Amino acid sequence: MILRAGGRPEPHVRPVATLQQAEPAPAHVQERLRSTGGARHRPSILGVPTPVTAMNYRHAYHAGNFADVLKHVVLLALIESLQAKPTPFCYIDTHAGSGNYPLDGFEAGKTGEFKDGIARLHPAEKLPPLLRRWRDGILGSADNAQGLKRYPGSPLQVARLLRPGDSAQLCELHTEEACKLRDLFRGNHQVHVHERNGYEALKALVPPQEKRGLVLIDPPYEAQDAEYKLIEQALKPALQRWPTGVYAVWYPIKLRSQVQPFLRRLQYSGVKRILRAELLVHPDDSPLRLNGSGMVILNAPWKLDDALREPLRVLAGLLAHERPATVKLDWLLDEAGSQLNTPSPLPASRLPPRPNRR
Ligand code: SAM
Repeated sequence: MILRAGGRPEPHVRPVATLQQAEPAPAHVQERLRSTGGARHRPSILGVPTPVTAMNYRHAYHAGNFADVLKHVVLLALIESLQAKPTPFCYIDTHAGSGNYPLDGFEAGKTGEFKDGIARLHPAEKLPPLLRRWRDGILGSADNAQGLKRYPGSPLQVARLLRPGDSAQLCELHTEEACKLRDLFRGNHQVHVHERNGYEALKALVPPQEKRGLVLIDPPYEAQDAEYKLIEQALKPALQRWPTGVYAVWYPIKLRSQVQPFLRRLQYSGVKRILRAELLVHPDDSPLRLNGSGMVILNAPWKLDDALREPLRVLAGLLAHERPATVKLDWLLDEAGSQLNTPSPLPASRLPPRPNRR
């Protein structure tokens, strides 16, 4: 964890909250934490390094912020494109969180981040259809019948959309968050909760029985730049086992130069269609705050860019801070595996050899 002078968390990545700051866990969760010693001592069993950080991140402080809005709108577009076919699909969330977050509780109140995210869409009237469906899905839930009170995380947003036959596999390493997630989906036989390292679990979960589906990789980036390596190390075997899966990775944007090498390396992963969707509320030139965020999608569905173009343009207007927000929506690799955009001019010596295209 990186702290600024004065002990306040640096606001640049997904900021950090301590267990002490959070509301006390229910008794059965506390018992589970005592008996397991918490999640942080889990060993690596598949050779993927277990994050060395102290698992301080709690999404409740950030739920519904501008980065969540981008991520979850892209997620809806992805789910809808999978649902264009009647055959069932599987959704895999490697970093699921606790699934449903109070916006009137201590954590959300402390940061107020949702006010510059979902709350900006609350009163908006003229929204493009995808954005309206997404916003109405959240506001229309029983939780929010009395106004915006709760923000559903990725597992709950997707679970509400599952058709009979579709399934979801959710991984969450933090014991307390995993217990809440399990409670949320108790009795739901389409949703499976795994209290384990999502990077390690991914290899075992793919290919899913359904043979079609989506993996969301949404880590807390507590490990800072090292998180990119963990993602790549997890993606490699997953892509070998399930080359046709759709993989969506969320990433924070502080300095552009920190993200570029990661995107550049993905272009050499052997995957064809790679789409990037980013929304920046500040220029990407300060390491001290979260300036924006992105989703990079491997094996992106056909026409996903068309589905996102207008919604992202409208979001840029709604989520702007002092200056207009900016959007990047482009193919890093197209259908033929040709590079359409170059996220960074990395020296050739630092690039892996280009694999044969499938
Ligand atoms: N995907 C969620 C959503 O959109 O609502 C938010 C997830 S939050 C950004 C990241 C979560 O990953 C945290 O709850 C954290 O406890 C969990 N986590 C951290 N490292 C993990 C790992 N290696 N495997 C699984 N979960 C992990």
